[in-house]
Amino acid sequence: MTTTLALGQDWSDLREAVAKICARYPGEYWRRLEDQHAYPTEFIQELTHAGFLGALIPEEYGGSGLPLRAAAVILETINRYGCTASQGHAQMYIMGTLLRHGSEAQKREFLPGIARGELRLQAFAVTEPTTGSDTTRLKTRAVREGDHYVVTGQKVWTSRALHSDLMLLLARTTPLESCSKRIDGLSVFIVDIRESLGQGLAIRPLQAMFNHNTTEVFFDGLRVPAKNLIGTEGKGFTYILDGLNAERTLIAAEAVGDGRYFIDQAVRYANQRVVFDRTIGRNQGIQFPLARAHAELEAADVMVRKAAALFDAAQPCGTDANIAKLLASEACWHAAEAAVQTFGGFAFAREYDIERKWRECRVYQVAPVSTNLILAHVAQHVLGLERSY
Ligand SMILES: Cc1cc2nc3c(=O)[nH]c(=O)nc-3n(C[C@H](O)[C@H](O)[C@H](O)COP(=O)(O)OP(=O)(O)OC[C@H]3O[C@@H](n4cnc5c(N)ncnc54)[C@H](O)[C@@H]3O)c2cc1C
Repeated sequence: MTTTLALGQDWSDLREAVAKICARYPGEYWRRLEDQHAYPTEFIQELTHAGFLGALIPEEYGGSGLPLRAAAVILETINRYGCTASQGHAQMYIMGTLLRHGSEAQKREFLPGIARGELRLQAFAVTEPTTGSDTTRLKTRAVREGDHYVVTGQKVWTSRALHSDLMLLLARTTPLESCSKRIDGLSVFIVDIRESLGQGLAIRPLQAMFNHNTTEVFFDGLRVPAKNLIGTEGKGFTYILDGLNAERTLIAAEAVGDGRYFIDQAVRYANQRVVFDRTIGRNQGIQFPLARAHAELEAADVMVRKAAALFDAAQPCGTDANIAKLLASEACWHAAEAAVQTFGGFAFAREYDIERKWRECRVYQVAPVSTNLILAHVAQHVLGLERSY
């Protein structure tokens, strides 16, 4: 079947509106947050009230009902103007699992509050300390007891859990040995963090290389109402997969935004900094890495647009979302490295924000899925090579 896909509008009105908000949150705001390990509450509130973080929620539930491409533009723009999208991005896409697989009652209960910003659904608990990328082996168990599930286990890197009201949890409801397929027997729940803390749920901050408000989460007999199970028990892995495709596409857009931030900053600096009686930007040794990174970002952006277009057309987009994330993460890193070389010693001075953004953008090659796992997916599912793991 041949499919024609437009690569997406550019949403210049959205870009302008988001850029205006970003202008009110300069580098010193983000540096101060980092010093205090704090959450960008004001920034996130402003984005929410302007409707940006409810972009993907349909209008009937109080959101803006925009396509994934528009959400990608919003996140790209936030990073392009020096702010940090990752502390709000989850509010956009975690709800997708609820939207696509939840009951009408669950959607009515949660989505309007999420759209208004009164409810934060910003935490997505999948990764575990002992199983990492091997998601289907995760050990957190949820066992049905009457009208509740009792949850026991541990998660790691559950970002923003201490700044969220709700958490989307992936847990095993049927032991792996009793399942015919590894992807069976996993279920998705909405956990109300507010009423669970101290009642079988404990959350500890996990200090990281950049300010990401990430945590370790401990479940010790936490009782989750059975009505908070999303969809059918045991089918949770397939439910989160389409959410992961949206996540990968959006994070790829963030990486493109960061990459363009580095290029903008480096070009401006290269045109001003005079050494040996001429601006450093006249040297090809400065120009070429920036030009190459720009070209790579343009190519990655086309893949981001393709992945979003497929998602918005409800077509399979797993491979494209993965490839977009792979290319964007590497293009962004090359732009970051080129910016550091361009700024020289001043790249290391906090006031220029290059070192902060450089630390922030390294994660794209590791999370939410690492480069090797994407390559393994392409090798197996696109090229038809043997499964390597
Ligand atoms: C800042 C940050 C925020 C995060 N936020 C969240 C979150 O909100 N929710 C959540 O659930 N998770 C989150 N994560 C976790 C993230 O998704 C994982 O770190 C990532 O999936 C990799 O898992 P791992 O760290 O356990 O690495 P591992 O699985 O231990 O892998 C380590 C290395 O080995 C490689 N490797 C493993 N197996 C193979 C193989 N078969 N072939 C080739 N190479 C292989 C990997 O590619 C990787 O390079 C976050 C992580 C970070 C750093």
